[in-house]
Amino acid sequence: MMENGKIVTIPAVATIDEIKDEIPNVRTYYLSFDDKAIDGAFTFRSGQFIMLTVFGEGECAISLPPSPEKDRFHITVRSVGKVTRALGGLSAGDKVGVRGPFGNGFPFDEIKGKNVVFVAGGIGLIPLRSSIVHVLQHRKDFGRVILLSGSRTPSDIMYKYNMKEWQENCEAFYTVDNPTPDWTGETGFVHTLIEKAKVPVENTVAFVCGPPVMFNTVNQELMKRGLSDEFIISTLERHMKCGVGKCQHCAVGRTLVCTDGPVYTYRQIKILGEQI
Ligand SMILES: Cc1cc2nc3c(=O)[nH]c(=O)nc-3n(C[C@H](O)[C@H](O)[C@H](O)COP(=O)(O)OP(=O)(O)OC[C@H]3O[C@@H](n4cnc5c(N)ncnc54)[C@H](O)[C@@H]3O)c2cc1C
Repeated sequence: MMENGKIVTIPAVATIDEIKDEIPNVRTYYLSFDDKAIDGAFTFRSGQFIMLTVFGEGECAISLPPSPEKDRFHITVRSVGKVTRALGGLSAGDKVGVRGPFGNGFPFDEIKGKNVVFVAGGIGLIPLRSSIVHVLQHRKDFGRVILLSGSRTPSDIMYKYNMKEWQENCEAFYTVDNPTPDWTGETGFVHTLIEKAKVPVENTVAFVCGPPVMFNTVNQELMKRGLSDEFIISTLERHMKCGVGKCQHCAVGRTLVCTDGPVYTYRQIKILGEQI
């Protein structure tokens, strides 16, 4: 019997129950552990990740988009290389392996009572989804909750099926770089939404995830408004092999992204001198 909160150190076999197409090249895989003791006891914090095995191909780090509470266990993966392309070739009923959860997770205990601003660029919404759902499940514990999401085109918007609910339960703004004739939302890069949403800076924390160019522009814009780099929080992505601080593949300066991260404040990232 696995205890709640224990880390799975050897890949546990899980079955793909269902696959959902999200956007081109990105799919969500709903998983259940074959060992029912693990299925009931696998707990994690928003912002943590797993090492996913595609048997015969290898392992890679993958975020956990479900809320730690009341959510179906799933991962969302973009096919980019050896392991993720092999995953893309699997079907419902096929098996994968899961180790974890690993990493530090988002600092939820420290942000109670604050305004929370989520800023996502493209598939940056994958690591943020868990926190968004978690915050909305505990809506009364936070001040204003704002979601700013930017995508290249309307067909690149992640988790479209959550859009209506999120728009009803928080201040959610969506923008696209290249609109189609039927697009009725905002147009322009995601940082332009910061002004439109009148993002507060007092008692505020921002979670920012997305490609480096977006990350830098958004952070500059938030800091220009007066938000301290201490309250801008993000995840770093590095090639990982072990996930448990042994192999040093994910070392950035003195930090190991797998064990010290992947969640860092922008102040920490700047000190690392990391080129993001
Ligand atoms: C904490 C964390 C969470 C993540 N969460 C997700 C997630 O939820 N969903 C998701 O889709 N992805 C996620 N990733 C990214 C994912 O782990 C990587 O894309 C991983 O490399 C995919 O493995 P692969 O074998 O498919 O691709 P790889 O074969 O590793 O190739 C991936 C890309 O990296 C390049 N590459 C290959 N080897 C190297 C190298 N040695 N140095 C530099 N570049 C190289 C390739 O050209 C290719 O563009 C996450 C990464 C981290 C660290």
